[in-house]
Amino acid sequence: MTDDSVNNAVDSAAVRTPSARAIASTDPRYLDLTSRGYNGRFVGRPDTVRVVYTTAQVVSVVNEAVQGGRQIAVRSGGHCLDGLVDDPAVRTLIDVSEMNAVSYDPARRAFMVEAGATLGHVYRTLYLDYGVTVPGGTCPTVGVGGHVTGGGYGALCRAHGAIVDHLYALEVVVVDASGTARAVVATSDPGDPNRELWWAHTGGGGGNFGVVTRYWFRTPGATGTDPSGLLPKPPATLLKAAAVWKWSDLNAADFAAVVRNHGAWHTANSADGSPYAGLHSVLILGNAALGTVTLSAQIDGTLPDAAGLMTRYLDAVAAGVQAPAARSQSTSPWLKATLKDPYDTGAFNRTKSKGAYLRRGWDDGQIATLYRYLSDPGYDGHSSILLYSYGGRANTVAPDATAMPQRDSVLKANFTTYWADPSQDARHLAWMRSLYRDVYAATGGVPVSNAANDGSYINYPDVDLADPQWNTSGVAWQTLYYKDNYPRLQRVKAAWDPNNVFHHALSVTAG
Ligand SMILES: Cc1cc2nc3c(=O)[nH]c(=O)nc-3n(C[C@H](O)[C@H](O)[C@H](O)COP(=O)(O)OP(=O)(O)OC[C@H]3O[C@@H](n4cnc5c(N)ncnc54)[C@H](O)[C@@H]3O)c2cc1C
Repeated sequence: MTDDSVNNAVDSAAVRTPSARAIASTDPRYLDLTSRGYNGRFVGRPDTVRVVYTTAQVVSVVNEAVQGGRQIAVRSGGHCLDGLVDDPAVRTLIDVSEMNAVSYDPARRAFMVEAGATLGHVYRTLYLDYGVTVPGGTCPTVGVGGHVTGGGYGALCRAHGAIVDHLYALEVVVVDASGTARAVVATSDPGDPNRELWWAHTGGGGGNFGVVTRYWFRTPGATGTDPSGLLPKPPATLLKAAAVWKWSDLNAADFAAVVRNHGAWHTANSADGSPYAGLHSVLILGNAALGTVTLSAQIDGTLPDAAGLMTRYLDAVAAGVQAPAARSQSTSPWLKATLKDPYDTGAFNRTKSKGAYLRRGWDDGQIATLYRYLSDPGYDGHSSILLYSYGGRANTVAPDATAMPQRDSVLKANFTTYWADPSQDARHLAWMRSLYRDVYAATGGVPVSNAANDGSYINYPDVDLADPQWNTSGVAWQTLYYKDNYPRLQRVKAAWDPNNVFHHALSVTAG
């Protein structure tokens, strides 16, 4: 026996697939698995957490739960911002995080990604193995399980669209009318009888139709069999820059100028093919307790005029602002820059989050409202209103081509506040709810679609949109998230989850 054959024998024994784990509350691992969620406000108490390794195991775990009448929830990366997974009613929590393989599938001419993989793992493997990527979110610990089903966008969206714009197929465990689970592959192929199930997973939201076990990614229209030509190539380097204003230097006029300039710039520079398509930024409107307002930007560092474009962008946002900004700039290899996690909030792990699409920048009244809340020296939560660049290639897709209909916005807002002390939940929730209601006072407390707003993003789920106390617009939460695509999602629900096995506080219902 050669040394190699010995090693091979050891290797094949080591990769034997484990059986599905059933972790009950007496198991020391239970606490880790039930408190995996990003938002410390929510920790579930399921009877068991089922850690799964294969699609067949998911089928069998779902069958067991359905036969036992136990409510199911699925967790991938655990970044759900509201309590959809850690709902006290959930009895079986299926944790897919150990299903995290990423590889090229020559038979489908597409990249296979298991649903438990994190974005960072996907970016790393696709890039190091094939030199390609998918244009997903900016947080490397987000899981693809929830991210892709909700639409998924990030730093490359202006150049390459949303992650779902590159979703070719998926495998999902569904439950039929007789209560029997089975795995189905649904593709974007026009003749595929399961195509509607694929479509519902291009922005319809997680936890609605079944348990996704695998995705396959390939850019529409990509030809050939060379994997390196089937998904976008990221830039080799990123030029990153920041401008930081201290609250101690900012007054209302300066704050307004920054937000107004930023909105106007995005309104003017978000067409597909703009010289700024390779630029992405987040304007972080931190509150006084955090101490700064920060514009954090990146651009394709290989562009001939990358530094000039970046400087002109920062200058445009800072125009007329009297307060000094500390500027910094650095160039990094793409993967190194992309794998940095900017979202570690330390002990401040309880959060309330809300979302909104902006077709243009906020108006002066909205900016004044934000200033009033964020400058409040009496508010001790760590609040950031994050304005992410959107548009570009993401806006070239028809509203009904994917389930994510918002295809002419220029910014996405994520309203956040974080705190540490559970006894203060009510105060922080009230603060965030009031801020959002007041910013959208003209449209019933929520971003009803009009010339300026285009509803909200299901990957920033917010149960308040379904609460008439906070949504006084008369527009249903389903319309705020899905617009005209909702009836089609309902038809998919009726066809593929007729018994509503997969449900949560913001799930699609059949009728
Ligand atoms: C710090 C942070 C940064 C973020 N940054 C971005 C960003 O840059 N861009 C962006 O688009 N979004 C971003 N998001 C939002 C993110 O896309 C969503 O929170 C996403 O749903 C998280 O997916 P997950 O698998 O990590 O979460 P989970 O909590 O595991 O799941 C979220 C939802 O999807 C369901 N789900 C999970 N796995 C499956 C599965 N296998 N099958 C069916 N349903 C499933 C869950 O049941 C739940 O309803 C961010 C969120 C956070 C907290």
